[in-house]
Amino acid sequence: METWRVVADVDFMGGHPALDFVDTIGGMHGEESKPEHEFLRSYEDLVMLGLKTETLSEGCARRLRRLARERPGEVEAVLADARRKRELVNSAFRPLAEGSKPTAKVLGELRDFGAQAIAHGELVASDDGFAWSWERCEELETPLWPIAHAALELMVSGPLERLKTCGRCRWLFLDTTKNHSRRWCSTEGCGTDVKKERYVARRRARRAGSPSG
Ligand SMILES: [Zn+2]
Repeated sequence: METWRVVADVDFMGGHPALDFVDTIGGMHGEESKPEHEFLRSYEDLVMLGLKTETLSEGCARRLRRLARERPGEVEAVLADARRKRELVNSAFRPLAEGSKPTAKVLGELRDFGAQAIAHGELVASDDGFAWSWERCEELETPLWPIAHAALELMVSGPLERLKTCGRCRWLFLDTTKNHSRRWCSTEGCGTDVKKERYVARRRARRAGSPSG
């Protein structure tokens, strides 16, 4: 039986905040989507994603959790919007991982999403100049802004040639191995499962071919 997971339980392997965002849905290639594939179930999942991808600070996470308690009526709409934005980011990067290109419509929507992020951000002094910041954390949508910005950066600056989809599950990731040889989201997860499945299939084939069983 599948266990229902939330973002806190998942070891993300995307290697990039925008891809970890896309990977808040599980499931295998070609598999029908099931409710247990959804990891973005509550507002806390959105905050946890920000902490795990290091796009939100602890202080910001605390403020957002308080805000969610104060405005319970708004949380569901923010979550629904987050899932729609996740589908947009997926539609932008999955084609690239599969050797094609995103549509002009999707690129336009990604531009709009990034523009919203910029509109909600502030330019603040950083170690080596200035950087975008979303540290005010006065809106429930805040976790989406640094991810939107990261998605735009990934689209423009790459490294898109490192973008891949797992050979088994739907996850997207950046392959940072020297010889671009990564095939699975993780060698412990899908990599091991594929080896196990092949082993079982080989054994079955051997048994079927042997008269003694
Ligand atoms: Zn996988």
